[in-house]
Amino acid sequence: MVDIAALARLAGVRKYGADEIFFHWGDPGHEMFIILKGTVGVFINSLDGSPLQVATLKDGDFFGEMSLLEGMPRSAAITALEDTVCLVIDESNFEQVIAQQPSLAFRIMKGMSNRLRQQNEELSFLKQGSKPEEDAPGDSVVGSSASLPLDSAIYPPGHKSYGVTAPEAHGTYLFDSETLCPVCEQKFPVKMMRSSKLRLDKIDNDLRQHFYDFDPLWYAPWICPHCYYANFNFEFKQVSDALKQKIMEQGRELKTKVKADFSSPRRIDEVFTAYYMILQTLQVGKVDPSKTAKIWLRLSWLYSDVQDDEMYALTSQKALEAYSDSYFNARRNTSVEQDQRLTLLLGELSLRLGQKEEALKHFRNSIVHKGGNNNLNRQAEDRLQELRSALNEQENA
Ligand SMILES: [Zn+2]
Repeated sequence: MVDIAALARLAGVRKYGADEIFFHWGDPGHEMFIILKGTVGVFINSLDGSPLQVATLKDGDFFGEMSLLEGMPRSAAITALEDTVCLVIDESNFEQVIAQQPSLAFRIMKGMSNRLRQQNEELSFLKQGSKPEEDAPGDSVVGSSASLPLDSAIYPPGHKSYGVTAPEAHGTYLFDSETLCPVCEQKFPVKMMRSSKLRLDKIDNDLRQHFYDFDPLWYAPWICPHCYYANFNFEFKQVSDALKQKIMEQGRELKTKVKADFSSPRRIDEVFTAYYMILQTLQVGKVDPSKTAKIWLRLSWLYSDVQDDEMYALTSQKALEAYSDSYFNARRNTSVEQDQRLTLLLGELSLRLGQKEEALKHFRNSIVHKGGNNNLNRQAEDRLQELRSALNEQENA
């Protein structure tokens, strides 16, 4: 047994409130945590970019040991799901802790080997689309900002003002906090989501998650009001040093053209702007189609909410192009399950755009009997069946 009382004398004790974030995926870190009381969620980025809870840890569980022992960046994000008290072990007290509590060393080793095996599969989700830009200066700063000239507005032609304001109910799921911009290193206020309160209602065929009384889509983008760096909240800290200067330069330019802050309650027009601002930020680095695809897909969902059919079609087309690009052309290192999700999404997007033969092909491709995920297989088979009977009816008529 690990003697917690003895440990507490050696290591620090830290408290986290519900929804407080211990760290994000990719953050540097040199501490490990042992939960004394409370529950935390382990989140990775799903293929479509939203945080996906893959595990819950409770009293006596620990996490963060990979960063402590190997200096590796955090391999997942950790958020407190309720008020949580932890022991914090760092390099300065680790040896002492292990000397006094050898059983802990054994548990850490056992845990590491199990977790490595599990994570190799789970974290393969991460490999596509959500990796921080590599620090390869010659490489990552090769900009393609030319493809979306700053001089034109950041919106594509056809984008309108929609004048919708967030429902009051959203407030229940939010709290105010502040964050440090990794680009200009200034603080700014942010709305954080109480992920512990969210209740999933349903997941659409295109993987959009619906929650009761709340829509995380409205709050996922963060924009630094000082330098105009924009990114998803769950990967906000993931920006390479090589890009920071370029982002600041772009921000100075954008500031003269776009107003990028949120009202309270926020307005959908501001949310649209935020997504287009992330696209701007993405243009600064080497273009990663899986990242741009995530934005276009979300924009298409928002346009569908405001019932702008033309913009819905346009952004769906953009999403399909970018996802196809990432599927067929980008260097890929993905798990079977991840490929299944991607082909399913390609199928749905093709279907949306009336490309039924393409959709059939993608749905067929996403069925993988050997080593595939059964739920995804079932979804693909259902979609295939529905599409086939629709096509048959069409032929008969
Ligand atoms: Zn900033």
